[in-house]
Amino acid sequence: TWSRTMDANVLVLGKESVGKSALTVRLLTRRFIGEYGLHPAESVYSHSLVVDGREMTLNIWDSPHSEDLSLKTSLFAKKVQWADGFVLVYSICDRASFNTVCRLVQAIRSARDCLSADKAPIVIVGNKRDLHHRRAVPSEEGRRLALQTGCHFYEVSAAENYHGVLTAF
Ligand code: GDP
Ligand code: MG
Repeated sequence: TWSRTMDANVLVLGKESVGKSALTVRLLTRRFIGEYGLHPAESVYSHSLVVDGREMTLNIWDSPHSEDLSLKTSLFAKKVQWADGFVLVYSICDRASFNTVCRLVQAIRSARDCLSADKAPIVIVGNKRDLHHRRAVPSEEGRRLALQTGCHFYEVSAAENYHGVLTAF
């Protein structure tokens, strides 16, 4: 019925150290703790929030990065099929992490197109906006990538701002 809680699975991906865990923890606790360590195992967190007046439960998979992305592996394919939406994170101070997001967009789009026609929403997030003095990726590049690939785009700071993080999720 109209009042039923909706569930959505959100997969958070990106290069190591871009702030995937910081963003996830910020959303869940409204806090920035600083150091999160490496997750020994894959972790899925459930978080309820109200979107357009409806209660939703997000199941957020803070996926540890495995570089080379193993984009062609069955594990990656399974994660991509599990997700209803994607948060692809780079650091505005790390050019390589932006390149990783470019590859992830392509990999997700092709994986989803193979198995189903739907296009799951992708949000591209440029994190660490507070470190503007070390910026390596202009906002414009993130915005252009999103425009060209049909994604959403936000620049946020897990360290300094909860609302930007909430909006992105
Ligand atoms: P992950 O490997 O992608 O999960 O990255 P983490 O969440 O573990 O964060 C890596 C490092 O970046 C940690 O030292 C965090 O404190 C730091 N960090 C994360 N987000 C921000 C941010 O928005 N601003 C700043 N200045 N540091 C951040
Ligand atoms: Mg992490």
